[in-house]
Amino acid sequence: MSAPRPAEVRQFPCQGCGAAMHYSPETQALRCAHCGSQQPIPVDNQPIREIPLDAVPPVGRLTRYTYACQGCGAHIQSTETALRCQFCSAALVLDPTFSEQFLPQSILPFTVTRDQLSAILQTALKQHLPPTELAELAYRDTTQSTYVPYWHYTARAFVDYQGWYGPQDGPRHPLQGRSPLFELRDPLSIACRYMTKDEGSSPYTWYMDRLVPFRPEYLAGHHALPPDIDQREALQVTMPLGVQRRLNTAFADYLRKLLNGTPYTIANRNDDFSPTTAKLTLVPLWVAHYAYKGKDYRLFVHGQEGDVLNRTPPGPLGLGCTLTLFALLAGVVALLIWFLIAR
Ligand SMILES: [Zn+2]
Ligand SMILES: [Zn+2]
Repeated sequence: MSAPRPAEVRQFPCQGCGAAMHYSPETQALRCAHCGSQQPIPVDNQPIREIPLDAVPPVGRLTRYTYACQGCGAHIQSTETALRCQFCSAALVLDPTFSEQFLPQSILPFTVTRDQLSAILQTALKQHLPPTELAELAYRDTTQSTYVPYWHYTARAFVDYQGWYGPQDGPRHPLQGRSPLFELRDPLSIACRYMTKDEGSSPYTWYMDRLVPFRPEYLAGHHALPPDIDQREALQVTMPLGVQRRLNTAFADYLRKLLNGTPYTIANRNDDFSPTTAKLTLVPLWVAHYAYKGKDYRLFVHGQEGDVLNRTPPGPLGLGCTLTLFALLAGVVALLIWFLIAR
């Protein structure tokens, strides 16, 4: 990783008292923690920009920035494009016009609040652990509201297939052909390595009808990870997750209608997937950390719906075991440098 660059930070001062405002998932506006006043986030009536696939800029190596906190003077090194100061909670949002990194075109703003999250986590943990074991659990107060980047495509796909169909005990008939061209709605591929392991087990569902054009205000007081998986690589690495699932559903619907529900078996199939445009979309995720019997775990909670997402991976909590959490986060979680400021 290259030497850190000083970050230019976008400020969101309160018009009432001048304190820094944060995006509030509760009201979906900017809110001043100091005087309580609210400021609506300007509505962008422009349609969300779709970028032709060959015009999507490549994702380079992660850039490390040095954020100088206006609130307390701390200097914080991070590759994140938005974060909260660990010392004073000030919002540090990279100025989008400053970054050479590819910036998002759209965002799903957080709607689950920190208070709601506490209740969600307590319920989830009680379901997973007997009461005697809860005492073994240590909640790490590092829970973060984090925006995670996804590649978000418009795409078409078809399937060449070969097999047979016919009733269970009846004669088999050959089945061969090419499906119609399916328009795949909102196929997503994860754009950052932080998530690939957990997304691999069961791709999460995001509610794209709430997508809005990206504005940096939505990041104020929250964390945002930059993309570190190039869109070309994303198609190879994670296409089978989001895209394959959608294609399988569309193909199964097609065959069911074609064969009037007669059982069938597909022996060979060849999928052709052609994305036409791609954009970077940020989705909201609460990331909670726990220690249990000396091991660290992370738990993802859907920032729009409050569902606990990574239930299935193995581990004593059934919550997704990440022993090397901070190794995975290397280069993402802030490295902290505290400078004494001479007066
Ligand atoms: Zn204020
Ligand atoms: Zn600070």
